[in-house]
Amino acid sequence: MVIDFHTHIQPRSSDEEVLGFLQLLTDNGIDMAVVHPLGRTAPELAASTENIARLARKHPDKLIPFGSVFPQDRGAAAELRRQVAEFGIKGLKLHPLLQRFDPSETYMTPVVEACIEHDLPILVHTGGGFMPDGRMVDADPLRIDELASRHPAAKLVIAHGNPFGPDPYIAARHPNVYLDTTITFANFARLIPGLGRELLGWMGTDEKLLFGTDAFPDHIHYLSYNLDPVKAMDVPAESKAKILGGTAARLLKLA
Ligand SMILES: [Zn+2]
Repeated sequence: MVIDFHTHIQPRSSDEEVLGFLQLLTDNGIDMAVVHPLGRTAPELAASTENIARLARKHPDKLIPFGSVFPQDRGAAAELRRQVAEFGIKGLKLHPLLQRFDPSETYMTPVVEACIEHDLPILVHTGGGFMPDGRMVDADPLRIDELASRHPAAKLVIAHGNPFGPDPYIAARHPNVYLDTTITFANFARLIPGLGRELLGWMGTDEKLLFGTDAFPDHIHYLSYNLDPVKAMDVPAESKAKILGGTAARLLKLA
């Protein structure tokens, strides 16, 4: 099974565009897609999260809904629990640049503990971003290293894991930290064939890398842009199957 661990569908997309997107996933051999909410403000984030929950209810065989909260807010853990109960979210998406928080701060604790309690993976954006009011330092993967040290039971995904940063070593040194291949790996692997095999070597495992595309219904070119370098990886078929979906299925308890 191929699972895209990193897609977005924002409320601006019509249901017709969403249907077209689902067809494109199928055409690209992607069986299921995790959909992450995005929002800079509380109303934006709520609208995004609710829309994803609605679409996942409509297309349960194709879409896996993640929720989101502002972890720096009091009540964030209660809001997360509400999203588990009402929307059936399968994980938490956090974007420190867009949502302007520091993932290494102790205000993270209630939300992270709620995720551990419900066995929900947490995907955190790292690396670049174009949000002028966000602090780039909050998207530093070293923040995730801190967070993982404080919460070793939390399942954390470094989104846009950078093969040439500390990211592979952060994943290697924490049993529950993963990287996704979205954009950053795809960028480098296009320039450097053989990078995928090296990356697995640096991580010391083939069970910590998750394929993702960052595709939106209005950014469909991301599908092949991110999928092709993963398919082209010079690694054993068994490892590639884990990267393309086996590890995701395990994390999401689909397997
Ligand atoms: Zn994304």
